[in-house]
Amino acid sequence: MNQFQIDKLNENLASVQQRVDRAALKSGRQAGDVRLIAVTKYVDSNMTRQLVQAGCHCLGESRPQVLWEKGEKLQDLKVEWHLIGPLQRNKIRKSLLFADYIHSCDSLRLLEAIDTVAAETHRQVNCLMQVNISGEAAKQGFQPEEVESAILKIREMPSVKLVGFMGMGSLAADIATHRQEFRQLNQLLTESQRFTSENINLTELSIGMSSDFEVAIEEGATMVRVGSTLFDGLM
Ligand SMILES: *Cc1c(COP(=O)(O)O)cnc(C)c1O
Repeated sequence: MNQFQIDKLNENLASVQQRVDRAALKSGRQAGDVRLIAVTKYVDSNMTRQLVQAGCHCLGESRPQVLWEKGEKLQDLKVEWHLIGPLQRNKIRKSLLFADYIHSCDSLRLLEAIDTVAAETHRQVNCLMQVNISGEAAKQGFQPEEVESAILKIREMPSVKLVGFMGMGSLAADIATHRQEFRQLNQLLTESQRFTSENINLTELSIGMSSDFEVAIEEGATMVRVGSTLFDGLM
C-alpha cells in the first residue's frame, strides 16, 4: 500500500468509529459500548493488516476459507475474528481455530455440529443465532417464532455459548423498514433474555452494515458489521 492509501484508510476508520461512537451516545450508551466489526471481505491481507495496525482489532469475514487464510497470515497481530457468513459443517473444525465468534448460526443442525467439534477440542464457542428478520425466503436463519424452542435445545449443547442474535435488514427496503426490523429483533432479544443458563447469556445484538449502522445502533446494536464504507476509495 502507498502512503496515500494508508492515509485514506486511517481517515475512513476514524470517521466510521466516530459515527459509531456518536450513535452510541445518542442512544444513551457510552462510546465504546458498541463494537465495530470491520468486514474485510473486500480487501486482501495486506490492507487488512494495515487496518489492524491502525487500531481496529475486531474483524469479520464471510467466507470460512478466507478467514483461515487471513487468520494464518495475521497470526502475529491481536485480532478478534468474527465469522459472519454461511458455514458448512465440514468447515467447522478449521474455522474454530480462528473464529472468536460465529454470527451465522442459522440452524440447529449447524449448532449441534459446532457443539460436537468444540467439545472435542475442549472449548466453548461464542455463537449468535442468525434470525431472519426480513421475512425474505432467500435469507438464511431461524424464523423469529422458532427462536424460543431452539434456545431450549441449545441449552443442551454445553460447548456452544449462545451470546446473542444476528440479523440483516431486507435487501430492497428503505431505512425505515430496516429500523422496524431491527427493533423487532431487539424486542425478541429482550424477551429471550429470560433464558439464562451456563451456556446461554443473551447480550449481543449484531445488526447494521454500511448503509444502516447508525439506525441499528439507535435500535440497540452491540455489534455493527461495516465493510464498504471503511474501504471507500480503496477497493
Ligand atoms: C458483507 C457483509 C457485511 C458488510 O456489508 P457492507 O454493506 O459492505 O458494510 C455485513 N454483514 C454481512 C453478513 C456481510 O456479508
